[in-house]
Amino acid sequence: MHTSALVLFSGGQDSTTCLAQALSKYQRVETIGFDYRQRHRVELDARVKVLAEIRQTFPAWSDKLGQDHLLDLAVLGEVSETSLTRDTAFKMEQSGLPNTFVPGRNLLFLTLAAAVAYRRDLQVMVTGVCETDFSGYPDCRDDTMKAMQLALSLGMDKRFLVDTPLMWIDKAATWTLAHELGEKSGVVGGGDALVKLLIEHTHTCYLGDREHHHPWGYGCGDCPACLLRARGYEQFVQAV
Ligand code: ZN
Repeated sequence: MHTSALVLFSGGQDSTTCLAQALSKYQRVETIGFDYRQRHRVELDARVKVLAEIRQTFPAWSDKLGQDHLLDLAVLGEVSETSLTRDTAFKMEQSGLPNTFVPGRNLLFLTLAAAVAYRRDLQVMVTGVCETDFSGYPDCRDDTMKAMQLALSLGMDKRFLVDTPLMWIDKAATWTLAHELGEKSGVVGGGDALVKLLIEHTHTCYLGDREHHHPWGYGCGDCPACLLRARGYEQFVQAV
């Protein structure tokens, strides 16, 4: 029986939904994020804001929500040439991967998360990786996550579980899941409250745009992350 978890939390829609799920599922939950000199500080600001809003809106979850760990990972910016850390436009590479791909990023994140989970005695690592996503990042695949779970468990001689609640669902289903989790949170109108929190405070846009407000939240409206979020939200609203 797993009772404690560490959520890889970026302040985006996906990892916030993962956090909500962990808070409804486990007794003790902590969060971890990484400062790898993202081009846009808004992502790191969003983390702090989202955590504060969750604490304020969902008292039962607040009781379970423990420490937030922010690790300095400047080295990732040093080893990668990507549109997430450099001032270059988004484009597709010859490999078929977008230039937002940071090789090994999730492998590094999970390894460091496991080291913190080990120290904090947390059993599960929760990550919002998704194979259904458009991008096809190889370090988000289910096989990769299973291999990491095995490698980390063996390498640290501790039985870790890597929990990937979004692996097989699309963005519309992610909005739906958030609504369901909010409904079950013990807060009246919690479903709508969590969706509103996601819209207003989570950040997804590759360009770091917090100027333009849409029904689905802030963003440029044109980058692949915005398009994915917008389309998922439209499908979610139509289905309600
Ligand atoms: Zn955008």
